[in-house]
Amino acid sequence: MTSEARPQLQYLHTAIEELKAQNLYHELPILSGEQKAVTVVNGREVINLSSNNYLGLATHPKLRRTSIEATRKFGCGTAAVRTIAGTMTIHMDLEKQIARFKDAEAAVVFQSGFTANAGTVAAVLGKDDLIISDELNHASIIDGCRLSKATIKIFRHRDLEDCERILKETENWSGHKLLITDGVFSMDGDIAPLPGLCDLAEKYNCIMMIDDAHSSGVLGRGGRGTVDHFGCHGRVDIQVGTLSKAIGSMGGYVCGSRDLIEFLYQRARPFLFSTSHPPAVVGACQAAFTLLDSPDGERLVKKLWSNTKFFKRGLKKLGFDTGASETPITPIMVGEAAKAFEFSKAIFEEGVFAQAIGYPTVPQGKARLRTIVTAAHKRKELEQALDVISRVGQRMGITQG
Ligand SMILES: *Cc1c(COP(=O)(O)O)cnc(C)c1O
Repeated sequence: MTSEARPQLQYLHTAIEELKAQNLYHELPILSGEQKAVTVVNGREVINLSSNNYLGLATHPKLRRTSIEATRKFGCGTAAVRTIAGTMTIHMDLEKQIARFKDAEAAVVFQSGFTANAGTVAAVLGKDDLIISDELNHASIIDGCRLSKATIKIFRHRDLEDCERILKETENWSGHKLLITDGVFSMDGDIAPLPGLCDLAEKYNCIMMIDDAHSSGVLGRGGRGTVDHFGCHGRVDIQVGTLSKAIGSMGGYVCGSRDLIEFLYQRARPFLFSTSHPPAVVGACQAAFTLLDSPDGERLVKKLWSNTKFFKRGLKKLGFDTGASETPITPIMVGEAAKAFEFSKAIFEEGVFAQAIGYPTVPQGKARLRTIVTAAHKRKELEQALDVISRVGQRMGITQG
């Protein structure tokens, strides 16, 4: 007997068939090795331009060692939520370390960046409150906003004027107001206009919140994030970051005042109702922040940016449109989704792994190849990737002019 036998889920089969007919069905690419700059995907060795392993920490020997030591000392799992019996000394130590690193009063660690965003927004805001959100904010922010039951108003992407228009219209709102943005936007690689948003949050008395998933380990001194990048210290009430991208392991965190963190300990649902990180994850994160706080960390961030500049300049010189990107996330604009998928497939066959992104992740007609370089890429790997992308791009008529 298989589940196919029952008709209750037949509609899912129909939906999948529809996705396949529209070329919107995605097979999972499968890595048979580590998350490295060159890796094996679906049995083929490729230059990897698809991961968020910005600093190469996912396979760093120091993280690996500390992770194994934590497993030896504390075991494989915690078997409890943080509030019952799932808080070990290492969980508290990591939170203190993150708060110090971000120069915040306190920090709380969640199971993922997704739960950090969703859990925090839903805990801090309620049905009488108002959320003003950038139209390209991450899905986890959108879910958190919906869970909070607050009124949600969306401003045009990075548009301070449009944001202020909404704030003027809602000037006499009686509940709390939250102004929320991604630090670095995950599909375009552009940076939020944080100083201007902080001005607005101050002028209109909003809580200011930023999601630094793609900026932690990338922007600011030693990768301290968007607040540090712009010198907006003390102007952002809630800073979310992820431990799953540049930090090389898994998890999310929230930094802010002690009151904020203590409140989240009491009220954030993923914190209360989902088991805490296994020691291996906590150990790896501790090693990552120790590294970031050292000259080695600074060096890795510098390498990430020099690789980013080299690769971006190369793409532009070859005549590609890289959109509004200012960070290691560099889209190569293609237009039609089908063409973007064909482009991705063609370079894959020549040994370069970069995903095509189409509707509904990005708007219709804005399909692209999304590339991310890391500090772990060697120059000759980036040169080789540029060579392949150039040849295939010309053949497919994707380069401009
Ligand atoms: C990846 C991402 C998240 C989620 O982080 P995870 O730790 O992977 O759950 C949240 N926000 C943004 C902007 C992201 O890109």
